[in-house]
Amino acid sequence: MPTDDGLSIPPDILAMDPDDMRRLGYWVVDRTIEHLATLRDQAPISQSDPTALAGALGGPLPREGGPIEINLALLSDVALAFEQHGDHPRYFARVASPSSFPAILGDWLGTGLSSVASSWGGGSGPTTVELTVLDWLRDALGLNPACEGIMQSGGSLANVTALMCARHEMGEGVIYLSTQTHSSIGRGLPAMGHPEHLVRKVPADENFRLTGVAVRAAVEADVAAGHKPTIVIATAGSTNTGAVDEIDAIADVCKEFGIWLHVDGAYGGPAALTARAQALFAGIEHADSFVVDPHKWLFQPYDIACAFVARPGALERTFSMNPEYLADLHGNDVDLHNRSLELSRRSRALKLWLTLRYYGIDRIADAISRGIALAEYAQQVVEATDGLEIVTPAQLGIVNFAAVDATDADHLRAIADLNREGFAGTSSTVLNGRTVFRLCIINPATTTQDLDGTIARLARNIGR
Ligand SMILES: *Cc1c(COP(=O)(O)O)cnc(C)c1O
Repeated sequence: MPTDDGLSIPPDILAMDPDDMRRLGYWVVDRTIEHLATLRDQAPISQSDPTALAGALGGPLPREGGPIEINLALLSDVALAFEQHGDHPRYFARVASPSSFPAILGDWLGTGLSSVASSWGGGSGPTTVELTVLDWLRDALGLNPACEGIMQSGGSLANVTALMCARHEMGEGVIYLSTQTHSSIGRGLPAMGHPEHLVRKVPADENFRLTGVAVRAAVEADVAAGHKPTIVIATAGSTNTGAVDEIDAIADVCKEFGIWLHVDGAYGGPAALTARAQALFAGIEHADSFVVDPHKWLFQPYDIACAFVARPGALERTFSMNPEYLADLHGNDVDLHNRSLELSRRSRALKLWLTLRYYGIDRIADAISRGIALAEYAQQVVEATDGLEIVTPAQLGIVNFAAVDATDADHLRAIADLNREGFAGTSSTVLNGRTVFRLCIINPATTTQDLDGTIARLARNIGR
């Protein structure tokens, strides 16, 4: 049969038999449940070497297809076996992603039904889900009720999206951040065309917090020199230490000088839902923009982040592809492709909507609260262990500690050994030039015994 005549190719050559689809789909479900049910028996972080992985997964582009079962198994047993399991109860490295099962279901359904949340006309249902979830979070977190939002892949892009909007509204001027601001913002500012000479890195205080006093000093110096301060970036829950900047005091300075206050709550934002951490977020209602990453501490699989902007219409003014649209901006029939640089975009809200509808916000807040308490417990264990000392106290689920009189290299070796042993996944950070152990404890399945075992092994590995 001549295949250069396209029409002689039979229709639907990519179709699969519904019974096969069902069987394979159930296989994926079974494999997922097996993973979730046996997490505790797995190593939190596994790595293979490039040659072995390329040998199993690489090779030439197939001209003709092969059995799907073998290849599904390769994905499951090779590709997805050698990675960090951010959903493991003893994964304490970087920031975990302890996703919940309702969220997985929501994501699966959206993928299965090829959901797209770009325009009202092509996705009024998914759009409504996204706007609903954003409103729920805005109100639960205590943000300005005028906030509008947009979901993005992660905190990196959500911050850049909010900051592009801020810059569009404020014009070019000086942007202030701190020595503890997340590095993705340092990368994002030049990428969005903001010149280096208009960035001020304000020193954080001895508790790694940006203070109102420090911001005021930097702003006044710029005003005196004839520069125009435009945006201050505060962090609510720094990735290194969990510290929350002095939002209230910084908001006062911003108000006095007419500056846009952006708050990066990518990691710590969800803690504002808890009674035990709420006071740290005082002043959050003054944020002109805010970011939170549900794939970190709202129990969602990758990827989902939210950017909020407290000026109605500002996102559309910044990102609208068809400015004529602005003429009839009304109601809730929003075209989400006009709120960021994404045009085609998956419906990231489905999973969070289902999670919130299933558990309710109180249970989610309790799950967050447990992480905060577990980090406080870890601090007590460290304090009771000979030869270990606290470097920064437990804050929003993060605690940093070190072995007395041990070198940076000793710490790195102790962590690498522990990760290789497969009991826990841990990582380090650097504070005031010193390499330290850092535990980020946000998985509600983590137990105090998990923490006892992890801290004891780190102490043993470093010779305590
Ligand atoms: C993780 C993090 C980011 C970046 O978020 P991604 O989802 O990894 O892109 C930004 N800011 C803070 C405070 C973070 O913790």
